Amino acid sequence: MKRQLLVFSIGIALAAVLAAGIPQNGRAQERSRQFTIVIHGGAGTISEAMPEAVKKEYYASLKKALTIGRDVLANGGTSMEAVEKVLRYFETDPKFNAGIGAVYTSAGRHELDAAIMNGANLKCGAVAGVEHVAHPITLAKLVMEKTPHILLAYQGADAFAVKMGMKPVPNSYFDTPERKKQLEEWMKKIKEHDHGTVGCVCLDEYGNLAAGTSTGGLTGKLPGRIGDSPLVGDGTYANNQTCAVSGTGIGEEYMRNAVGFNINALMAYKGMSLKDAVYYIIHTLLKPNVGGVIAVDRHGNYAMDFNTTGMFRGVATSAGTFEVKIWKDK
Ligand code: ASP
Repeated sequence: MKRQLLVFSIGIALAAVLAAGIPQNGRAQERSRQFTIVIHGGAGTISEAMPEAVKKEYYASLKKALTIGRDVLANGGTSMEAVEKVLRYFETDPKFNAGIGAVYTSAGRHELDAAIMNGANLKCGAVAGVEHVAHPITLAKLVMEKTPHILLAYQGADAFAVKMGMKPVPNSYFDTPERKKQLEEWMKKIKEHDHGTVGCVCLDEYGNLAAGTSTGGLTGKLPGRIGDSPLVGDGTYANNQTCAVSGTGIGEEYMRNAVGFNINALMAYKGMSLKDAVYYIIHTLLKPNVGGVIAVDRHGNYAMDFNTTGMFRGVATSAGTFEVKIWKDK
């Protein structure tokens, strides 16, 4: 009996040691020391006539977000951890359309959408139309971790956040004068697709991919409208077999064309490279001036492609690449 107990205890100890080297897919994996992180802060009509000071602010924010994610990965963190941390940062930066600085609905309120997906096991979580959650990306992760569901919306999602111990914020917490002005212009029918949705895709040292997207949606959207960002396979998708993708642009076009899933499908079923699959979707399938995507594959190849005038974006790798950009390479 005693011997049985000893064998049992050793078994438990061994399991704990194995679990500590944590593989998101449950298998022990070596640290390859190789990682790639790609971020976006929205695609759209971004004027190159932007004042130098504003440009500088955008570059600084993108660098900050990229540094946060790069450091998580360089210190052995997982792709899921990096995605959440980067998007949490963006959700507090008023320049971007996520969290503080989210756009207004036609009713003058904010309804936020977010999703996160783990490419190792296809687990995912999403929230749509939340009005009182400072960090929708974290709520999306909690939906994944703590419920049998994938997508929670509106009051149910806000109530779930409270249940998870997240302190509710008033809807005015997301207000910024810039976005208010955009709504006023939108009402005067000066409709320009504004930008600022944020996304992050990563390959971590364990060979796992993850993707996340967080957004306030589109200025002047009808109350109740849900975009592509929280829809798995449209604005957000990750699968270790192929790639991790986060999109930004006119959500309805991304939904119609199942952008995230289709990039993955071109790679899985047609054997296309990440770059070719992304190029096909952005420049052939989507109409011009719709948006862009960031993507990474399991080898660390990455793409940041768009069919608008610009996309706030950046990439960092374990090989030392660290760059942020707004407009097309000339
Ligand atoms: N795709 C987002 C949406 O339609 C907006 C954006 O990326 O700018 O909700």
